[in-house]
Amino acid sequence: MTESKQREQIAELGRSLYDRGLTPGSSGNFSVRVDDGFLVTPTNSCLGRLDPARITKLDFSGNVVSGDKPSKEAFLHLSMYEQRANAGAVVHLHSTHSVAVSVLDGLDPEWPIPPITAYYVMKIGKLRLLPYFPPGDAKLAGAVREVADRHHAILLRNHGPVVAGSDLEAAVYATEELEETAKLYLMLRNDKLLLLTADEIAELLRRFPG
Ligand code: ZN
Repeated sequence: MTESKQREQIAELGRSLYDRGLTPGSSGNFSVRVDDGFLVTPTNSCLGRLDPARITKLDFSGNVVSGDKPSKEAFLHLSMYEQRANAGAVVHLHSTHSVAVSVLDGLDPEWPIPPITAYYVMKIGKLRLLPYFPPGDAKLAGAVREVADRHHAILLRNHGPVVAGSDLEAAVYATEELEETAKLYLMLRNDKLLLLTADEIAELLRRFPG
């Protein structure tokens, strides 16, 4: 896909998420890997109204190559690309249900949302919970870098999800799967649940390696 098509796809999928209430106001940011760096949505931009030509391009040292001032969360994306050679895109949202789960006390950092459905395991695998840091804090980039080689989906405590995919469509679909799973978990978490077993999870990961 050419860079201009990638820019159009960022705007198109941003509008789709915005129209469905998944990325309200100026929250959330996308990035896509290109030959000489990565494209990231500008700071304070609404994902529902992006101008493809003004999307920021950064090099892999985090320097602006062209476009508007980048999202102050661009370093989250850079940490994912540094650790995941196959990551073609990264999506970060403040989507309501995922954020709601990130606020719950007593979550298991290794399975903050337990394995309740096959598609959650197939598209997200082992979601990793990270502690709270203020947005823009360099320690947050370091915390993401530490786990990103083993986890392509991360939930930032009291903040929201960061999800990498082979391309932008895959990253968006996985983020939507996570948001729907978070919604299900909030509906069910006070009930007695039949979770997928360790054997069932291992079989899914064997059949559908991420
Ligand atoms: Zn954020």
